[in-house]
Amino acid sequence: MLCFTACFFLFTNRIIIKKKEPLPGKNRFHLSSNTSQRKYPSIMIRIFNLFCKLKKIKISDQEWFDQAVGDLMLSDQCCPYCGAKSSMKPHDSYSRYMVTLKGDKPVTESLCVPRVKCTSCGHTHALLPEMLIPYSSYSLRFVLSVLNAYFLHAHTVEDICEAYQICHSTLYVFRDLFLSHKQMILGLLNDAQKKASDFIGKLDGERLFRFWESFRYSFLQAYHASDFHHR
Ligand SMILES: [Zn+2]
Repeated sequence: MLCFTACFFLFTNRIIIKKKEPLPGKNRFHLSSNTSQRKYPSIMIRIFNLFCKLKKIKISDQEWFDQAVGDLMLSDQCCPYCGAKSSMKPHDSYSRYMVTLKGDKPVTESLCVPRVKCTSCGHTHALLPEMLIPYSSYSLRFVLSVLNAYFLHAHTVEDICEAYQICHSTLYVFRDLFLSHKQMILGLLNDAQKKASDFIGKLDGERLFRFWESFRYSFLQAYHASDFHHR
């Protein structure tokens, strides 16, 4: 927890350093009790709060999500549609599932994803912290854990799929996305020299943020939501 807190403030300071410091509690986001079944909003706002290595984060994905959403300052956000500053207001929320790990076992948790509305253009945007992969039920750390097991070759594909309760096809979708995105991050030459398991071990929030910033979609985000199947 200490590590998470230290890393969190490190990154938070980096992203708001040029922005006006909000008054304590002002415009802090609070979850609405309203929910909506609309599944995928057109434009999302990704929350990147951590620059430390993902393997150093000791809290659960659920706690990570709650903390990221709870600490978000809406006054710091720009509308991804019209670019208006400080125009985001809490709107509503929708529920979605997240498959994550609890004591190395896969568990499914329900999340309440907040949505904000821009008072300038009227568009609504979901707030997705970095532990979520857009359009995937699997948390980022779940996918990285599967891939780490796969690339270390310590277990058979059959055993990995059994342990994580996923289909073989899902594991191979994870793998192909990972290899493709790894190459996009490193470039052809560096990619060939970097072992997949080493890359996973060194993956940090900054890389996730830079990926999003460069390509405008998320690391390990599939092109089609239907690529993933529960077993
Ligand atoms: Zn707007």
